[in-house]
Amino acid sequence: MSASSTIPITVAYGDGIGPEITEAVLRILQAAGAPLRYDVIEVGQKAQQRGYRVGIAPESWEVLQRNAAFLKAPITTQLGKGDKSFTVTARLALDLFANVRPVRSYEPFVASARPGVDVVIVRENEEDVYVGVEHRRTPEVIESLKLVTRPGVERIIRYAFEYARARGRRKVTCMTKDNILKMADGLFHRVFEEIAAQHPDIQSEHMIVDIGAARLATQPERFDVIVTLNLYGDILSDVAAQVAGSVGLAGSANIGPNVAMFEAVHGSAPDIAGQGVANPSGLLMAAVQMLVHLGLVEHAAHIENAWLRTLEDGIHTADLYRPGVSRVQVGTQEFANAVIERLGESPRHLKPAFYRAGSVRVAAASNPPMQQTLVGVDVWVRWDEEGRDPETLAARWRHALPEGWQLTLITNRGVKVYPSGSPQIFCTDHWCCRCISVHPSASFDAVLDLLHAICRAGFVITKAESLYHFDGEQGYTLGQGE
Ligand code: NAD
Repeated sequence: MSASSTIPITVAYGDGIGPEITEAVLRILQAAGAPLRYDVIEVGQKAQQRGYRVGIAPESWEVLQRNAAFLKAPITTQLGKGDKSFTVTARLALDLFANVRPVRSYEPFVASARPGVDVVIVRENEEDVYVGVEHRRTPEVIESLKLVTRPGVERIIRYAFEYARARGRRKVTCMTKDNILKMADGLFHRVFEEIAAQHPDIQSEHMIVDIGAARLATQPERFDVIVTLNLYGDILSDVAAQVAGSVGLAGSANIGPNVAMFEAVHGSAPDIAGQGVANPSGLLMAAVQMLVHLGLVEHAAHIENAWLRTLEDGIHTADLYRPGVSRVQVGTQEFANAVIERLGESPRHLKPAFYRAGSVRVAAASNPPMQQTLVGVDVWVRWDEEGRDPETLAARWRHALPEGWQLTLITNRGVKVYPSGSPQIFCTDHWCCRCISVHPSASFDAVLDLLHAICRAGFVITKAESLYHFDGEQGYTLGQGE
């Protein structure tokens, strides 16, 4: 096959068992005739040892950005060293906004708590608490930011529906906690309903994530595609994989508009590195996802069916070996040989793989214009005086406030303590004082005057957040109990 008719992909052999399982997977891809050629780059520990703190050399970024797909073996993360994880950096630098993790059970060939699991978890990959913005505000209080954006939400939900359509799936379930997080998760739920209405051929449903997680653990077979925010998706993926019993066999895709990264779910397994016993299945299933993504659907099904047949024939690596079920225990390369020998065969018991041609469209998010009006400011102060009495704090604020502003609310840990809060409420040393302009809109200069006045009154301001209306609708929550 000429180089021009092959698709260039980026490959990293990774750390620990990475090189062994990558070799096995590339041999299978080659034997299956996948028209690929490989640009090999170094990421992870080896690059870090060469002085690249993020775990990748600058010239490797160019390769990554050039090719549509990146097959990445697991890398070892040096916990507690303060260096940024390459995987996290790559997600952000390559805009890999969608994490797609198919989870299946392979009962009775792989032990599973529930048979019949075949669910795909589509998780937002860049936002939510994973932005990692945390601040200590006072000796007592630490705050972490959960960031959710309309374009981020719209992209991931559209991707989930387009994925379901392209892959012949019937239903998309959205999971949020919008009974509590009415704005962030509420946005996710609302956009889900909007986009579901544009896909009448796909069933849709919404669940509160705690109930959803319980159902996923007890009735996983009732789910098809799940779309959710980053943190919930992280947890739900592990719940599903645990229930299916196939965590060591799972691959995942990180999809961006131009580049997609495919990897095994497991890590670099340093405890068995170099022994030739690792199971290459997780990376192989990631490679199958990559082939589907690249439109090589026949090659993908060809490989997956040979792999399923290998599992059925009881040819298992040590991690899967079970007396009575397994026939022979093999090493990494022998397992790859067994898959290669079965290319062209199909499973006899498990559902054979079949992928439709057609890629999943990555749509651009819409950007509706909105009128944004400044109406007030939430000012947080550290205050630990006079028995932490909210009425005393309110009196001191009213005294300090410049003209044009009124103090409407004081909260502590989000709970209303003024006006007329319950005396039982536990109060920390961190207080949020909500000041609203007496005019229909405020200027930022007026906000600065207010902050100066509060500062001159001797308060320690830890944070100030502007309060806006968007097309006349409040862009901030009320205090609990307000
Ligand atoms: P791990 O997944 O590497 O290992 C957990 C257990 O599963 C170990 O007993 C290991 O021997 C076994 N195991 C894992 N993969 C296997 C395979 N293919 N075949 C047979 N057995 C396998 O998890 P860990 O020990 O917590 O992490 C090790 C390193 O991997 C850490 O540095 C961690 O940060 C990193 N990690 C990387 C990725 C990634 O690159 N995507 C993902 C998870 C963890």
